[in-house]
Amino acid sequence: MARLANKVAIVTGGAGGIGLAAARCFVNEGARVLLVDRDEAALLAATRSIGSEAASHAVADVTRPEDVERFVQVAVDRYGGLDVFANNAGILGAVKPITEYPIDMFDAVLAVNVRGVWLGLKYAMPAMARRGGGSIIVTASTAGVRGSLGLSGYVASKHAAVGLMRVAALEGAPLGIRVNSVNPSPIETAMVHQLEEGIAPGAPAEGKALLASRSPLKRYGTPEEVAKLMLFLASDESSFCTGGVYMVDGGRTAM
Ligand code: NAD
Repeated sequence: MARLANKVAIVTGGAGGIGLAAARCFVNEGARVLLVDRDEAALLAATRSIGSEAASHAVADVTRPEDVERFVQVAVDRYGGLDVFANNAGILGAVKPITEYPIDMFDAVLAVNVRGVWLGLKYAMPAMARRGGGSIIVTASTAGVRGSLGLSGYVASKHAAVGLMRVAALEGAPLGIRVNSVNPSPIETAMVHQLEEGIAPGAPAEGKALLASRSPLKRYGTPEEVAKLMLFLASDESSFCTGGVYMVDGGRTAM
């Protein structure tokens, strides 16, 4: 039997690398999936690329409460409830020392990566509770458990995302809702190319070589490798897992 048979899932950041891989993986395992993103054109293309009637989309900005409340309601109205929520949308922000980091960029990173994750929890949890429970996966990062030069906004936001995940796991347990984080190291998506440019301006190959060399496996991960961990946490196979921080990082945080 498919691992997510009869389940309804929402994936935010669904037009991006990891979100699309997760959405595709969930559909392949029997779920009906609502992809959510603020980039309408990319979202449409992503949903179509899955090539299944089990995938649909809603354009929304995760920093806006009315948008988040609406996309949760869309999933409930369209599919009858909510079982799985991949709270995944995120931005990198600037790659600059704290002394040079633009203040408005710091606020923007926290708005998406912290307020957005919190709003997702706030509106998804009641819908899941009405269904008798569910599974929430927050996409954090290795930056959620360690520091990284030049990434103060991102690192602060991902540590906060892990904290929110832990509180939601405590509050969700009596409702049957499990909440965990996946914590990737650099993954082959648009976001990592921004990071390469930030650490080696105009020399992306050098940036990539440097980032890949920092992991014991000496490479980036793929979006599909993250999606497989998300699938495990989404499915009932992880029924005793909640409040956990799950690395998918080629050994990066073992160093
Ligand atoms: P990506 O840039 O390919 O995808 C991110 C998606 O989020 C984009 O489609 C973007 O439009 C969407 N988004 C951004 N702000 C939004 C908002 N306010 N409302 C709705 N949608 C919004 O990057 P990705 O690598 O797929 O990132 C997914 C998650 O994985 C992020 O939380 C990111 O921080 C995390 N992550 C990525 C890496 C990596 O190396 N790629 C590593 C660790 C963690």
